[in-house]
Parts: sequence; C-alpha cells; structure tokens
Amino acid sequence: MKLYEKTAAELSEMLRNKECSALEILNDVNDRINDVEGKVGAYVTLNEKAAESARAVDEAIARGEELHPLAGIPIGIKDNISTKGLRTTCSSRMLENYVPPFNATVIDKVNDAGMVITGKMNMDEFAMGSSTETSYIHLTHNPHNLECVPGGSSGGSAAAVAAGEAIVTLGSDTGGSIRQPAALCGVVGMKPTYGSVSRYGLVAFASSLDQIGSFGKSVKDVAMVQSAICGYDKMDATSAYVENTDYAANLRDSVRGLKIGVPAEYFGDGIDDDAKGSVYSAIKALEANGAEIRKISLPSTEFAINTYYIIASAEASSNLARFDGVKYGYRAKDYDGLTDMYEKTRSEGFGDEVKRRIMLGTFVLSSGFYDAYYKKAKLVQRKISNEFSQAFKECDVIATPTVPASAFKIGENIGDPLKMYYSDVCTVTVNIAGLPAISLPCGKSKDGMPFGLQFIGSKFAEQTILDAAYGYEKICGGFDSLAKNL
Ligand code: GLN
Repeated sequence: MKLYEKTAAELSEMLRNKECSALEILNDVNDRINDVEGKVGAYVTLNEKAAESARAVDEAIARGEELHPLAGIPIGIKDNISTKGLRTTCSSRMLENYVPPFNATVIDKVNDAGMVITGKMNMDEFAMGSSTETSYIHLTHNPHNLECVPGGSSGGSAAAVAAGEAIVTLGSDTGGSIRQPAALCGVVGMKPTYGSVSRYGLVAFASSLDQIGSFGKSVKDVAMVQSAICGYDKMDATSAYVENTDYAANLRDSVRGLKIGVPAEYFGDGIDDDAKGSVYSAIKALEANGAEIRKISLPSTEFAINTYYIIASAEASSNLARFDGVKYGYRAKDYDGLTDMYEKTRSEGFGDEVKRRIMLGTFVLSSGFYDAYYKKAKLVQRKISNEFSQAFKECDVIATPTVPASAFKIGENIGDPLKMYYSDVCTVTVNIAGLPAISLPCGKSKDGMPFGLQFIGSKFAEQTILDAAYGYEKICGGFDSLAKNL
C-alpha cells in the first residue's frame, strides 16, 4: 500500500513509530500528483515550500519533540482561504495574481500543528456554484469518472482526497460546498457549527452562512482536523467559545441507543430513487445495530432553496463590493475616469455566475423589494431554525441524503442555473440554521458513482454527528474513498 492511500490517523501512527518520515509521505503524495493531476485538475497552485515544512517535522522528530497528532500530514487548502505568500485566487480572474500578506486563522493553526500544506485547491469562482465549473482557472474532474463534475464549490478539495493527491483538505461551506462535493466524490466532509471555526482570512461570500470545514477518507481524519482548527478567535466577531475538544480521541463507535430522526421532506419527489434507496439501506443498518429511528417532519424545507439564494446573494452583493480595482486584485487596462474603471474592472474581473449573484443580491436588497424578498427570507430562516430545534427535542441526529442525485456530467447543468441550484436542496437548510453536518459515502449509482448520507446535529453537537458517522463507518467496514483506475 502506498503512503498516499493511507488515512491521516494511520500516517500519524507510522510517523510516531518511525516507519516513515514526513518527507517520504510528502514525496509519495507529490508522485501521485504528478501521475494524476493532469486528469483531475484539483489544484490551482502547488506550495513550493511544502518540502521545507516536512523537513522541519522530521527534524523535530529527530530531536525527540512532542508532536501534534497531525504533524507531517499533507493538507490541501481551498483557494478562498488566505495563505501568506501563497497565491489565493478564489478561482477568479479578479484575484488571479493576488498573494495575501497574512494567514487565515485556520492556516496558523494548521502550521502550528506541523501539517504540510501541499497547495491551493480549485473551486467555483468565489465559492458560487455546485460543480467547480465556474472556476476561471480550469475544470476539475471527478476522480471516479473523469467525465463527471466533482461537485462544488469545494470541488478541488474533494477530488484531491478521492484521487490521493492530498491526505486531507480544507473547504468552505455556505450552502453545501463541503458536503455536496464530498458526497459526489465518495469522501467524508464536515461542515461545523457556524462560529466554531474562525472565518478570519476566509474570503467572504455570505458571511452569516460561511463556515470552514474539512475533507478526509475517514471520519477519524475529519475529527482530527476539526479538533485542530476549531476554537475561539478574537479576529472573528462571530467566533464562538467552543471547548477545545479532542473529537478524535472521544469517538464512540456504537450507535446503540442513538435517536435518529428521518424527515419525510428530504425523501420526496426530485430525489433520485437510488439516492433515497442507499440512504434507506443505511438507516436500516443503523437500526439493526441498535439505533432508534424516529419519523420527523421539517415542513419549511420546501422554501429552503429560495431562502438561501436570497440571503446568500444579498450578502454576496455587499461583500464583493470590495473588489473595485483600487485596493487589490484585477484592474481594467483602459478606462476613462473612476466610474468607468469600476465598471470595466468588475465586468472583466468577475464571471457570469458571480455577476448573477451580485445582481440578484442588489435586487432583493433594493428599496421597494426588500420587504418582499430579503425580509421574508429572514423570517423563513427563523422558521427553518425553529423546526430544527423542535426536531432535536426528540432525536440526537437527523439523517438525510446529501445530494439529490449522483455526479452529473461536465457541461450538463452549467447552462441552467436553477437546475444547478437544485443540487443544494438537501444541504442549504443546515447553513440557514447554522448547524453542523457531515456527509459520508453511502452506496453507489448504477454507473458506480457515489451517493452521500448526511447526519445533521444540533448547534455545537460536533461530537454527536462524528460519533454517529464513526458508528456508520464501522458498520460499513470502512469507506472505499480512493478512486480506482485513475
Ligand atoms: N452551491 C451553493 C451556491 O452556489 C453553495 C455554495 C457554497 O456552499 N459555497 O451558492
């Protein structure tokens, strides 16, 4: 077995037992990148300083220093997370040559743990999309079938884990951008509770919904990364005082007595029969292993997509006002005065999907329409949150499909924004309510493409969803995340 095929937990053990060095792990991952990146296209930029970080870990080991469990583990970073001295493009022409002068808080944490940053991962432009096709940089292909999308917006992060081009990765999730690509690429992906991981240095899309989280080949890997990146940060005004828990050490692998709510609204029309079937089989297996299944109802789910696209676009239209050609990023070459410079810069620097969101957001916030759209969406948001709170009075976690169908073909939905938005039908409610959720590989379509099982938890119940996920992983006998035949 090659080193890139192993999980972070396994590699951590091997490093401790001196069965391999951090540099050997990195070299193996780099060989894999050389072999398959031409087909997958997961990276925007490779980190030239990765070997330096790996050597530093090996030197610390040689000195007999106490290491963080994730020291020496290669990690890829979504390209909307600021990395000092390493280009951060948001996969946009607007930031094509932007090199941040500071690190996001999560990057400081990753560095403090001694993790080795392999590079920056491709994504939908400014995290707007569900297929990574809106990237200005290039396409990313699903490692399980190169003709299919990897999902999005964190498509590069998900594809890299499935292809063995990184051991774990970071992504961001505003409406499903970690869980949906995790499901479509057959890997584990977790979106933590809003506020549990600092957003300082994450390029803002919709600030009240954005949250950083991780991808891995196993639940334990994701638990390890979550423990390393969570915690209060004074640089983020919405940061929460979460206890710095060691989620991985506390993992419980039995689902006996776990109360699982199954909401009818997530299994209705529009969800592919095989996707539903896979999740129903998983629920049966959980029940056979001692979990208690409760039928529940979340009636406002049908308004979730509309609510999400109003709130997210409203916030995006305001957040993206900073890209004006003055402070940083792209500036149009020829212009006639300040207004013309703004107009040309933004017309040339942003892609179609980003412009669509800015226009939609500006519209729903405009006087005359604010009450009808934005205010109403905020009221529905409250209703959706209340329904979740009610549901968590009778269950510990909620189980749903992560995606309405398996990965679609590249080009299939890009011309139809509404169809693309529908990919998020099972994931956006979680961001609207600020909850944590995890997606796990769960069965395959007739064509062998992965489906996802989503566990949603109440606020700050990361340990509960990780335990449920770990229990399910044990029932499955592990996940088969790595793509074969690449
Ligand atoms: N696909 C959704 C959108 O396009 C979610 C994106 C995200 O979570 N960043 O807005």
